[in-house]
Amino acid sequence: MASYDKHPGKLFIISGPSGAGKGTICKRLIEDSDAGKIELSISMTTREKRVGEVDGKSYYFVSKESFIEKISEGGFLEHAEVYGNYYGTPKEKVLAKLSEGIDVVLEIDIQGALKVKEVYPNGIFIFILPPSMSILRKRLTGRGTDSMETIDMRLAQTLDELSYIEEYDYVVVNGELEEAVNRVKAVVTAEHSRVTKNIKKLLMDKYKEEA
Ligand code: 5GP
Repeated sequence: MASYDKHPGKLFIISGPSGAGKGTICKRLIEDSDAGKIELSISMTTREKRVGEVDGKSYYFVSKESFIEKISEGGFLEHAEVYGNYYGTPKEKVLAKLSEGIDVVLEIDIQGALKVKEVYPNGIFIFILPPSMSILRKRLTGRGTDSMETIDMRLAQTLDELSYIEEYDYVVVNGELEEAVNRVKAVVTAEHSRVTKNIKKLLMDKYKEEA
């Protein structure tokens, strides 16, 4: 499989059960960063728009036909069917940002994350967990956007998803939002100090030139 993993920007993949708070954490991560340093990828989906969601901001909401056409054009970095709807990460936009040195955050499900890992093994994979199943149920119920049936399905899925935790590099438990946001920010900061494969050459070139 083709590897796209050659860009100066860093790719952060954030997954976790619905209701774990990944959306809020990602939003804060972007809002609190300097403009143009880190951006959230906007996914494409065939699911119905929820109250308050905005096309082009929350998601690009498209028909099943358009989505399938984009798959056939190879337009996704990954795509997956989640709870009966299609979701996908538009490839071109993400790669363009990474090549400009901008970090990109993908807030995607585990199936998608595993596919991204195949084409982007240097991505940084972060799993967000709720502190407990009862708190997760409370959060999902309180959101008021899903039926009881959907909530039960999402809770059952959570246990299933946990079995993939070892595929991830970091796990952050979202009990207290500020602490969880700070932990994810700390991961971003640490990853920018990581010794990577081509760092020796980059540093040698720079320091030799300056010597
Ligand atoms: P929701 O319908 O609640 O917005 O999202 C349902 C699930 O789909 C969440 O776990 C979310 O992370 C995931 N999701 C959102 N966008 C994408 C995407 O582009 N690709 C994949 N694989 N999953 C996504």
